[in-house]
Formats: sequence, C-alpha cells, structure tokens
Amino acid sequence: MTPDKTDSVDDLLALKRDYLMPCVFHFFRRPMVLERGAGTRVFDTAGKAYVDCYAGVGVSNCGHAEPSIVARATAQLGRLAHTTTIYLTQPMLRLAASLAGFIGGNLRKSFFCTSGSEANETALLLAKLATGRNSFISLSRSLHGRTYLTSGITGMAFWRADPEPPTNVHFAPSPTCSDCPLNLRRPACNFRCADAIEDILCENPGEVAAFIAEPVQGNGGINVPPPGYFERVQAILCRHEVLMIMDEAQTGFCRTGKRFGHQHWDIQPDMITVCKALGNGLPIAALVATPAVAAAYTKPGASTFGGNLVCASAALATLDFMREHKLEQAAARAGERLRAGLDAIASRHACVKEVRGLGLMLGMELVTPEGEPAGPLLDDLMETLKDLGVLTGKTGPGRNVLTLMPPLVITDAEIEHVLHTLNQVFAGLPIRSGVSA
Ligand code: PMP
Repeated sequence: MTPDKTDSVDDLLALKRDYLMPCVFHFFRRPMVLERGAGTRVFDTAGKAYVDCYAGVGVSNCGHAEPSIVARATAQLGRLAHTTTIYLTQPMLRLAASLAGFIGGNLRKSFFCTSGSEANETALLLAKLATGRNSFISLSRSLHGRTYLTSGITGMAFWRADPEPPTNVHFAPSPTCSDCPLNLRRPACNFRCADAIEDILCENPGEVAAFIAEPVQGNGGINVPPPGYFERVQAILCRHEVLMIMDEAQTGFCRTGKRFGHQHWDIQPDMITVCKALGNGLPIAALVATPAVAAAYTKPGASTFGGNLVCASAALATLDFMREHKLEQAAARAGERLRAGLDAIASRHACVKEVRGLGLMLGMELVTPEGEPAGPLLDDLMETLKDLGVLTGKTGPGRNVLTLMPPLVITDAEIEHVLHTLNQVFAGLPIRSGVSA
C-alpha cells in the first residue's frame, strides 16, 4: 500500500494542532512531510530528497531502510511479533549475548525495554537497589529523558517540563570548558567541576546512589569533557562507593568513532544505558550492568515490549552490520573529514564560536556579534539548508548549536556535498529576510 499523499502539510499541521499535546514541537517554519528513506537520504511526499545529517537524533546509524535489517525484522514480524518476557524467545537472548560481546569488558547483564527514558529510569532504580541509597548526581547541561525522574535529573531547564527537580537530585557543573559554569580556565582550574561532585558527596554522606552522565552531552550542545575529567570523577565516586551510570543514548553504537562513548576514557562504568541506534529505528533500549550490580535486581521485573521479537531481530541485524562494516572506524574517518570542513567554515565566519564533537557527533556553536547565543540565526540557517536538501539538528541551552549526526554510512562524496551546501549558506549570511518567514 502506498502512503496517502492527499494529506497536505496544512492538513497535517491542523491534525497536530487539534489532536497532539502542545509539547510535541517540530523543526522548521515551513515543514515538509517525510515518507521514505534509503541509506543517508530521506524523501518527502513531493519526492524531494534530503541528505539526513540528523538521523532522527542519532538513531539510523546504519542508514535508513538498511536491507539486511529490514529483512530480519520483517521475517520475524511475519513469524511471531510478540510474546513478552515471560516466555523464552531466541532473538532477545541472542541479542543479550551479542550486545555484551559488542560492548566488551564487564558490562554483561541486560534488561531490555523500549526507550532511553525507561532504560535510565531502570538504571536509577537499580542503583538504589544495589546501594540502598536514594539520591543521584547529574550534570547541569544534561538530558536524560522525559519521564518524571529522568526529566528530574535532566540539568537543562529547557527540557525539564516540571521546573522543580525532585529533592533527591543534585546537579554538578558540566565540564563545558568553552563556557565554564564556574568561570574558570583550564588547566589552572584543576578539574574544579569534578571536585564539585566530591563536595556534594561530603555534604550528603552515605546518601548518593549514583552519578549519571552522557559521555558527550548531546542535547546540551555536543559537549566533549576534557581528557582526564571522567577519570577524576570515577576516582571520586570509588572513594564514596557511588555507582557510575553512562547514558549512551546518543554516543552509543559507533557514533563517536568508538563503539561506545565512554570507551574514549579510561573508566569502567557500573552501568550503561543504550537505546536510539540499537534498533536502527525500531524502538528498543537496554540497561546493561556489571554482574555485581545486576545481582541486586531480583524482584520480578517485566517490560511488555522489552526484548520484543521484531525489535530484537532488528537489533541483532544492526550489531551484525556494525561489526561487519567496522562502523566505529567509518565514523572516525568520516568524522575527521566533516570536522575539517566545519573548522574551515569556522575560520572564515565570526558567528561560529566553536566546532566540537567526536566522530560523527559534531556541533557548531553560533553566536551574535555580542557573543550571545544566535538561536534565530541558526533557525534561518537550518531552514535554508533544508530547502537546499540538507537536514541538520540543533542543540544547546541557547538552541544555537548546529548539530550534525548523519548515518555512519555517509560517503565522502556526500560529506563534500553537505560541506559545499553549508559553505554556500554561510556565504549568504545574513540570510535574506523572507526565506524562513
Ligand atoms: N538520554 C539522552 C542522552 C537522550 O538524548 C535522550 C533522548 N534524546 C534520552 C535519554 C531519552 O530517550 P527516549 O526519548 O528514547 O526516552
């Protein structure tokens, strides 16, 4: 059956206004309707192609509609879609073993669920069970989910629907050196931001169960912590017997040039949470813990769609594809190329404050001549890029970080095309009024 093309953009906007909650926002003043994808491309209902440099927020790492993943998921869908975890099924158990091997090290025990929020929520619960403590530390520019507790441990006010965080959550300053929340400079700061975690632990002795952080903050504006930060944090956590949870929602599955973001540093998290790219577009997530921590989760826990047969089959095919194509190496190589082009643009345009990121998780922070976040400029830029057939994202507390997270299968020619388009758009700044009206 072909998709119904009779719904115009205006029809769909009216449905959205009338039937969705107002919190569900969309990009672009003149949005298109996407209906199809193949590799790095997505297509709208008018047949226009876009190079997708956001991959549905870092989800379609193997490319849209990757045939080997589609084949395994559809074969499973035709056989048996669902049983839930109260029965033995092959895809979920094979996936648990495959995932443990893919991560390596001592993170071996999985609990499958359907979203990043649910995986983080479960990690916090397990931290409480494993330590008998009830408080958490997270970073000031973090985002960890949409549920009550995970939005509560989300540091960025923009993403916290309830402005009041729960009382058992402490926020430590994010290690964002280009915009230090403590107004310090490296290396003289001597990791004061990490030591702030120890201050919290000393002020609340025996209360904190876990510290949670993204290896590279995604929604916070593609913030890569300085080398040595996480090692220092882990030493502090060890001294106070506090667990370390790494939220790999965006950094997992080869995105940063390693299989997982935390592998850029010499640390051993007690738990990691994974979601987004695990199913390459199908909803599957997991909390993966060391056997010692996992041992505390003994009360019956079930997730109706956790380890769902179709999603687990897609995830198995995703991991096979990543292994076979050495996607972490591909992301590192492609990331270098894209980064070099972005750096060149930055050197020519004063509105670019900084280019940062790892692998194919890259951000370009835009500022006004006064040095303030240039959110409206970024909106104009993204709209023009979209009109020229390139989809990008935006992050950062000031909504001013142009974010590029394409499928990891992006080719050199496609990167050159994206850079050419970006150069064209930057050369036309300030963007003509009316383009994005
Ligand atoms: N953690 C991080 C770092 C995320 O970026 C997100 C989603 N953007 C989440 C958790 C929540 O994931 P989900 O939307 O699947 O609940």
